Amino acid sequence: MIAPPGESRPGRKTIRGLADLAIRGAPPAFTDIVHVGRPNIGDRAAFMGRVDAMLDSRWLTNNGPLVQELEQKLARYLGVRHVVAMSNGTIALEIAIRALGLKGEVILPSYTFIATAHALQWQEITPVFADIDPVTHNIDPAAVERMITPRTSGIIGVHLWGRAAPVDELAEIARRRHLSLMFDSAHAFGSTYRGRRVGAFGRAEVFSFHATKFFNCFEGGAVTTNEDDLATTMRYMRNFGFETYDKAVHVGTNGKMPEICAAMGLTNLDSLDAVVEVNRANLAAYEAALADIEGVSLLRYDPREQSNFQYVIVEVDPGFAASRDEIVAALHAEGILARKYFWPGCHNMQPYRDLYPHAGLLLPNTKAVAERVIVLPTGTALPPHAIEVIASVFRVLGASRARA
Ligand SMILES: *Cc1c(COP(=O)(O)O)cnc(C)c1O
Repeated sequence: MIAPPGESRPGRKTIRGLADLAIRGAPPAFTDIVHVGRPNIGDRAAFMGRVDAMLDSRWLTNNGPLVQELEQKLARYLGVRHVVAMSNGTIALEIAIRALGLKGEVILPSYTFIATAHALQWQEITPVFADIDPVTHNIDPAAVERMITPRTSGIIGVHLWGRAAPVDELAEIARRRHLSLMFDSAHAFGSTYRGRRVGAFGRAEVFSFHATKFFNCFEGGAVTTNEDDLATTMRYMRNFGFETYDKAVHVGTNGKMPEICAAMGLTNLDSLDAVVEVNRANLAAYEAALADIEGVSLLRYDPREQSNFQYVIVEVDPGFAASRDEIVAALHAEGILARKYFWPGCHNMQPYRDLYPHAGLLLPNTKAVAERVIVLPTGTALPPHAIEVIASVFRVLGASRARA
């Protein structure tokens, strides 16, 4: 039976007041948890076809034909000479950092996924955390400049939320101070900076193709570069340093992408545009639903640039009637697993908290942003009703004087 307009359909909850909230004892809006970063999965039949061919060939890993095809297609898509596919983004970061010869201290934002910092500390390189721009959430070039010491060897910019870091300003600092510049581009697959796709900036860029990312290979990642020698070194490094059978020419690790991951990547590459359109439509729906709620603002994307719109970011004004954490708790109770990325900042997590206990003194913008951000679910697996429920939670809590 179809419910008349204005009435909620069976199983669909309408939130009009505090008493309707699950956190106040009402039934949750969703019994199947709605996750941030639920994987986008392309054409199943095409994927299964690739898997069948792979099993028939018994070439499952070790730079197989699917990995080679993926690398070529990605190089064309990103507009870069070399794509070196890896088992995940973290190994790709570690290998890029080592291949660039970074040592001593490397400057990066604290407001990033912790793997950016770990990839340095893992190799006994000191991560030096620079503050961010409170509007863009990206690393602030002036803060980078302040953190340079005689021990600094490089800068890692992060294209946060798929919006490019200030590439030109960072490149200028790197050139003038003789530092290597690379990017953690895990969020920015398909995004542009001044009209050029992210992937060919700095000396190297690192992507993650983890299942939760815009472009997913189950697990996977890649380093992209225009430098031939660097690409060759990284190909050795990802395969135990082997140049040919029985001949290792470099220290190495195992960073190889398996064929089944490349099969997933090749399949998902064909539906990228469709996923962007879904994300764009979800963002527009969020904008409409949240527009009239004062004290809550959605992060804007530059209309002159391309983006994957994989991250829907809300900032909660400290003056809003409910705190950021109260809103997140209320959303969780409804079955919506909104996230507080990247709270409380890498510098507040171990081992960095103990190693660099004073890092936070120079990170006031990082602290402020980390305390007001909520990441909301989007993507092809978002239930149609979810945006309405989420906006209702904000509206009801905003009107509640919950903290009065
Ligand atoms: C996901 C992510 C990584 C790590 O990539 P994995 O493929 O999960 O190892 C690194 N940096 C950032 C900013 C990320 O979002």
